[in-house]
Amino acid sequence: MIEGMPRILDGNRVRDEIKAELRPRIGALRAKSRAPGLAVVLVGNNPASEIYVRNKVKTCEDLGIRSESIAPPHLITTDELLAIVARLNADPATDGILVQLPLPAQVDAKRILLAIAPEKDVDGFHPYNVGRLVAGLQGPRACTPAGIIELLKRNQVAIAGKRAVVVGRSDIVGKPVALLLLHEHATVTICHSKTPDLPAVCREADILVAAIGRAAMITAEYIRPGAVVVDVGTNYITERDRVARIFRGTAQKLAAFDRKGSVLVGDADPIDVAERAEAYSPVPGGVGPLTIAMLMMNTVAAAERALGVC
Ligand code: NDP
Repeated sequence: MIEGMPRILDGNRVRDEIKAELRPRIGALRAKSRAPGLAVVLVGNNPASEIYVRNKVKTCEDLGIRSESIAPPHLITTDELLAIVARLNADPATDGILVQLPLPAQVDAKRILLAIAPEKDVDGFHPYNVGRLVAGLQGPRACTPAGIIELLKRNQVAIAGKRAVVVGRSDIVGKPVALLLLHEHATVTICHSKTPDLPAVCREADILVAAIGRAAMITAEYIRPGAVVVDVGTNYITERDRVARIFRGTAQKLAAFDRKGSVLVGDADPIDVAERAEAYSPVPGGVGPLTIAMLMMNTVAAAERALGVC
């Protein structure tokens, strides 16, 4: 237990700040030439992906970014999807192309991501942009990792000289956030499922990033008192007794479960993190809102480069 209340790293507030900063940049682009354009390709009908895409399109509308939704059927072939990407690559009014993952098994996802023009790769997943990230060169950064850095900086969490431990080594979150923290001069350790004595490694962290996908796995023994914990995990718990265990019987969470049939839980134990961390990002309302904000930032930056505004 640490003295005083922990600080909440409020992702909704930071998202609103970023959106407010983007509005005049979008206004300037529209005044000079045209609105920034984002194309979102959603194959098939995965309900989770549909929600993500709807939120992305809604945020575009709110900001005055032109969005185009393309929804090919689940049975699309790699070649057919490549043709869609080629059309969007050639379209001068499209600044950003986002192909929502996961793609169906018959589609070669690597070939699709490689086909997106690097300057329109607003997800920052193209190997060209991953290379620019490794080299510390300017370019679109993966949205969730970039959002984590914004969340830390805009909450005045010092990164330089700190020990950062990232649990998770995915191409989407773990690896890029570790590189971004390194560029911010943290001393970074990347952990994964084969890391021995994970709790001891995590306890070395001043900044602990959990990007695992395992509900409430990061318990008190992983958290050094006074650490900053960034919880990336989004896990939907659908068993009532598990919700009761994770939230120690909190009536409000059980009522939410009874209403909705599931409760969203991060990778950090919500009670332990609140007791031991100096600051932490809640789930929901921490990292989540920043992913779309950073997608908007990448789209605006791509439009500025395409239109020669920056
Ligand atoms: P992946 O499944 O791709 O990667 C998970 C990583 O966690 C892997 O590197 C894996 O190790 C590691 N891991 C799994 N189990 C353990 C364990 N017991 N001990 C240590 N490490 C373990 O997931 P993502 O990176 O795509 O996502 C991580 C979480 O973040 C998910 O909950 C996802 O929903 C969420 N997410 C949230 C976003 C947001 O906007 N808020 C955006 C993107 C993701 P190994 O490599 O050895 O298998």
